[in-house]
Amino acid sequence: MLKEKYVCVSCQTHFNTIPQRWRCQCGSPLNLAWEKPKFSKEHIRHDLSGMWRYANALPFHPNDSVWEEITMGEGHTPLVPLSKEDPHTFVKVDYMMPTLSFKDRGAAVLIAKAKEWGVKKVVADSSGNAGTSIAAYAKRARIDCDIFLGAGTSPKKVAQIKAHGAHIRMVNGTREDVAKAAQMAVQQEDTFYASHVFNPYFFEGTKTYAYEIWEQINKVPDTLIIPVGNGTLLLGVYQGFCELMAQGLTPTLPKIIAVQAENCAPLAQAFHQQRIEIETVQNRGTIAEGIAIAAPARSKQILQAIKETNGYIVTANEQEIIEAHTALAAKGFYVEPTTAANYVAYMKHQKTEQELIVLPLCGSGLKTERS
Ligand SMILES: [Zn+2]
Repeated sequence: MLKEKYVCVSCQTHFNTIPQRWRCQCGSPLNLAWEKPKFSKEHIRHDLSGMWRYANALPFHPNDSVWEEITMGEGHTPLVPLSKEDPHTFVKVDYMMPTLSFKDRGAAVLIAKAKEWGVKKVVADSSGNAGTSIAAYAKRARIDCDIFLGAGTSPKKVAQIKAHGAHIRMVNGTREDVAKAAQMAVQQEDTFYASHVFNPYFFEGTKTYAYEIWEQINKVPDTLIIPVGNGTLLLGVYQGFCELMAQGLTPTLPKIIAVQAENCAPLAQAFHQQRIEIETVQNRGTIAEGIAIAAPARSKQILQAIKETNGYIVTANEQEIIEAHTALAAKGFYVEPTTAANYVAYMKHQKTEQELIVLPLCGSGLKTERS
């Protein structure tokens, strides 16, 4: 057996990895600690599809095959030059996923772990993409699923979640109210919280973004630009590159530049005021719905990761996001507004001539009304 432990990100208390545990008694989120086996290029499983080619770096026993019933081939997405004019900038086309967003990386691992534990029902809250992903994988795993959503969720995402047979529980209120309602239900109904924010197994999936880039370009890029709300991708990617460094596979970490929507930017605000604690902001409304998080639970970890890589945070206003959406479509990429916000950060970045930059295309434009 793998010796997995949950470790509180604040007080460092250790817990056994049991389905009921999703946060520390101090209220903070948990990280996953486990003895990682040796990993190098020779350990890539070329016989497996998608991100499971890195199965040897994922928290499953080599003889466990539960994930094989659940995977839909997620991951191992194309990494292509942005355009002829930008030969050193690459986009990772992570909307080429079973449910059309990068969240499938995390959902595949988290639901496989839930299935391994014999979980019968999962509960999650989402601004849309994580909900569609959890709903799809839960259905495939024959696990019942309730998804808590805010009343303003994109109708296309609601339809997608419904199609996967999940029970939708609408909440009138902020994104934080939606999360609280889900957490209350988890407690009262004694179910499994399949949270892409709190459950560290989700980050074990999103970390494969880093492994793939490392394999695809045979080195670590200079700079990553990543949209950030709850940090689902950013923290997974940071973890992934830290693991590669710990394995001696890279001497450096890429600089992480994060972007928030100007209308909901608690992390950018804290970063620019050199604070490690965020102040909850009021979400003034943004089309970049995937990063509209007024009080991210892992804010300290996100800010630390950005600082440790000598990165920074930038904001994008609504007009800039709309223009970036059009600019990306003109290059052939039809993305969600959240990804367009990320492109704004790229446009603002003062890159050097040879700087190797990677941007994720996180979600398909087909998932939102505006696109
Ligand atoms: Zn704690």
